Amino acid sequence: MTLKVAIVGRPNVGKSTLFNRLTGRKLALVAPMPGLTRDRREGAFEVAGQPATLIDTAGLEDAEAGSIAERMRVQSERAIAEADIVLFVIDARVGVTPVDEMFADIARQSGHPVILVANKAEGSAGESGVYEAYSLGLGDPVAISAEHGEGIGDLHDRLETEA
Ligand code: GDP
Ligand code: MG
Repeated sequence: MTLKVAIVGRPNVGKSTLFNRLTGRKLALVAPMPGLTRDRREGAFEVAGQPATLIDTAGLEDAEAGSIAERMRVQSERAIAEADIVLFVIDARVGVTPVDEMFADIARQSGHPVILVANKAEGSAGESGVYEAYSLGLGDPVAISAEHGEGIGDLHDRLETEA
């Protein structure tokens, strides 16, 4: 069985940028505006030299009835349920929001291994957000910059530990 890793989090935290960074492909659309990714995307990458599948979730575009928050919740729950490891992403420049807390509850309650990822942590603008991330109760955050390729080695180390 191929290891499945799902990237979840609220819109605009950099999930698709991280997907592209980890897969080395341009399968996921990166949006200047929140919620551009149309579908869930899957791509190939490796964890500890073993083939793995990475899932990028969009959250907003599921053609289901209900509020945006409800659709995001349903899509994320699905991805989390089938993932062996969850990459839960927040925006370190924004810090922890109520929507992040909602996603964190879902991830925590799944019982699946969750790696907390504080993205956009390049430079000093993300420092307080990385610190705030501890309040989510998902363990130590991995500070990364998906856009600039920083902290990706640390993230791979954590993936190897959970795999
Ligand atoms: P998604 O909605 O979670 O998939 O987020 P996207 O990957 O589409 O990115 C949303 C925005 O955040 C885009 O403008 C990205 O260029 C930007 N972004 C993503 N990663 C980083 C990062 O590491 N640092 C900074 N400063 N911006 C980032
Ligand atoms: Mg996206």
